[in-house]
Amino acid sequence: MNDQVFGKTLRSVRELVDGGLIEASAEAGLAAVEARYAIAITPEFAARMSPVLARQFLPSVDELTVAAGEVGDPTGDAAHSPVVGVVHRYPDRALLKPLLICPVYCRFCFRREHVGPDGGVLGEAELEAAFGYLAGQSGLREVILTGGDPLMLSPRRLAAILGRLAAMKQIEILRIHTRVPLADPGRVSVELVEALGAAGDKALWVGVHINHAEEFSEAGAAALARLSRAGMALLGQTVLLRGVNDSVEALGELFRAMLRHRIKPYYLHQMDAAPGTAQFYVPIEEGLALMRGLRGRISGMGLPTYILDIEGGYGKIPLGPGYLDGQGGMQDPFGGQHVLAEGSFGG
Ligand SMILES: *Cc1c(COP(=O)(O)O)cnc(C)c1O
Ligand code: SF4
Repeated sequence: MNDQVFGKTLRSVRELVDGGLIEASAEAGLAAVEARYAIAITPEFAARMSPVLARQFLPSVDELTVAAGEVGDPTGDAAHSPVVGVVHRYPDRALLKPLLICPVYCRFCFRREHVGPDGGVLGEAELEAAFGYLAGQSGLREVILTGGDPLMLSPRRLAAILGRLAAMKQIEILRIHTRVPLADPGRVSVELVEALGAAGDKALWVGVHINHAEEFSEAGAAALARLSRAGMALLGQTVLLRGVNDSVEALGELFRAMLRHRIKPYYLHQMDAAPGTAQFYVPIEEGLALMRGLRGRISGMGLPTYILDIEGGYGKIPLGPGYLDGQGGMQDPFGGQHVLAEGSFGG
């Protein structure tokens, strides 16, 4: 615990040294990391810096080691981007990335080559082109705002974007993916919550990225409550990370904390292989064992789907247990005998 009060987001190695979050002796070694990847630690997280927060947000020289197979666009989004700021990989839903700014920069981020404080705010013309594209997609039912972090937009801009999307007749659902509620709870202001009302009668789902129970605080809980009271459904998204949440205990505590805050754990992501992230890598077999360890130990509501985003733009696939499909190593309890026996569906 650190009882220092931080007034503003720390954005450089120098500021981290001055704030007492890293040793002065580490400064020179981190210059190359800082030159390559954005740094930000909000006052909220800086004030309660702990080993699991440090590992997620403090720069480290390990980020300079690029392992075999690590690529700048691990999910292959570029191949599915019809216009700037849009990724359309599935027929019924598309991503809109209005900016690439985040409240904090995660050291394992799959978009780490793209996100940053001066990055990627769509201009008016680009936004119009994105709206034009989305409006023309009759099979679209859902638009997912991501980035970067859409809750870093001003309430006015956010309301304008949500309003345009909500006005598209074929769109039924809007979704926002964010780290803001826990990383910078003060941003979830009355004005911001009002801006989210621009979704109108379209369902607005908010996916909150949380990797450890320690990320919750009183202020964060209040920010989440402002969202859920305003009618938003909350989902939890977690990345499985070595040294952060790679134990049944840590994941169990995290998912239970989510449920207490009205967040349904949605996805546990197998980490995408972005450059310099090998220090966080957990093998899939281990992830599967963790999921097996959780089943039965916590409420079924607390179990997310363990998911892998296949490289090259192929999309997400759930990772085991492969119920009865013979692929996940799970035994068919009926030995394949009578589950699909003739006549079991009444012919
Ligand atoms: C993850 C993702 C989605 C959303 O997928 P869900 O499984 O519905 O959460 C949509 N489009 C792209 C390109 C994605 O990567
Ligand atoms: S908040 Fe999301 S997009 Fe931003 S750095 Fe973290 S993982 Fe990447």
